[in-house]
Amino acid sequence: MIILKPGREKAVLRRHPWIFSGAIAEVDGDPGIGETVDVLDAGGEFLARGAFSPESQIRVRLWTWDPDERVDGEFFRARLVSSISRRQDSRRLIADGGLLSAVRLVHAESDGFPGLIVDSYANTLVMQVLSAGVERWRETVADHLMELTGADRIFERSDVEVRKLEGLPLRIGTMRGDDPVDRLQIEENELKFWVDVSRGHKTGFYLDQRFNRLRVRAFAAGRDVLDCFSFSGGFALNALAGDAASVTAVDSSTDALALAEENRALNDLPDEKVAWMEGDVFKVLRKFRDARRDFDMIILDPPKFAHTSSQAQKAARGYKDINLLAFKLLRPGGVLVTFSCSGGISTEFFQKIIAGAALDAGVNAQIIERLTQSPDHPIALNFPEGEYLKGLVLRIV
Ligand code: SAH
Repeated sequence: MIILKPGREKAVLRRHPWIFSGAIAEVDGDPGIGETVDVLDAGGEFLARGAFSPESQIRVRLWTWDPDERVDGEFFRARLVSSISRRQDSRRLIADGGLLSAVRLVHAESDGFPGLIVDSYANTLVMQVLSAGVERWRETVADHLMELTGADRIFERSDVEVRKLEGLPLRIGTMRGDDPVDRLQIEENELKFWVDVSRGHKTGFYLDQRFNRLRVRAFAAGRDVLDCFSFSGGFALNALAGDAASVTAVDSSTDALALAEENRALNDLPDEKVAWMEGDVFKVLRKFRDARRDFDMIILDPPKFAHTSSQAQKAARGYKDINLLAFKLLRPGGVLVTFSCSGGISTEFFQKIIAGAALDAGVNAQIIERLTQSPDHPIALNFPEGEYLKGLVLRIV
């Protein structure tokens, strides 16, 4: 049982799913890691029920606000059923009557499942366990997932640093079924991609960019495109599919670029139009500036620069730097598609950074579209932290 300090029940009443250690007056008993605990206000009234995490600053992640709801195998099954069926609700996530061949089935807090990510790639599920609460129930969750989806296998990618904050070891490997075939093939917006679930970034693919890649395709015709932080070529291939005049794609990982080239070949997209470049984007952009190279369209989709809000200022300098350089490389009428996936950088702050970059680059630009994460990565209203991906499409005027 967890008793909160006076006044600290407000966030819980707003249905925010996290209780920070500083809000807790007393821990009654000695709950183990991930154990289900009741949360009471200072007056002893029941508020919610959640998973205890003794080592994390986020001491409790809430499962339910209903005093009569038991947290057991059936509870998790019901949560999974509703999360998966919500994907079937979204017409945008359906093709030929079934779910897309690559789709996120559970998006953690925003799907009422704090700490659990489940991505589905061509009948293989990739599960990521990020909290002590889910860790305690992971076998139960895996059993339900196999039964509910009819998947061939579950591969676990719990190899992320945030687990250390929960006192959990990093783990990677097959949980159900046999080892994943070396690579899986998925389709996204009629393009095929190889996904490497055991070694690729995140769970193997950036599913959150699905519909933003289509926007890039729509703007690419006849343009010289520079795709920065290309990974397996998601944006680069869409630019080619959209009839770009040329595509230059930069990434620091040779493995990612090799996969991107295989993905190009898989789709029979023109080899002579694309140049894969291994390098550090911060340096490559400077090299292009010094060589007076220019482009009609630039995509900036960097990795997370800020992991917490305390790193926001440092991250802001990184974003400003690459965006300023990109503005300088764009021809008049050019298009910049720029993203931040740092949760600690708000949409407003991101726009301010971009405005500062344009000003310092001496260009006049306008926002023509605002982009966000795709609908299988929903943002629960009681969990604004769930909005992490923001993008702007800007035109140089
Ligand atoms: N745009 C991609 C996802 C980008 S993920 C897509 O649509 O799928 C970020 C990528 O940036 C990773 O592939 C990583 O290898 C690369 N990266 C990280 N830091 C880099 C740097 N300084 N220069 C170039 N690439 C970098």
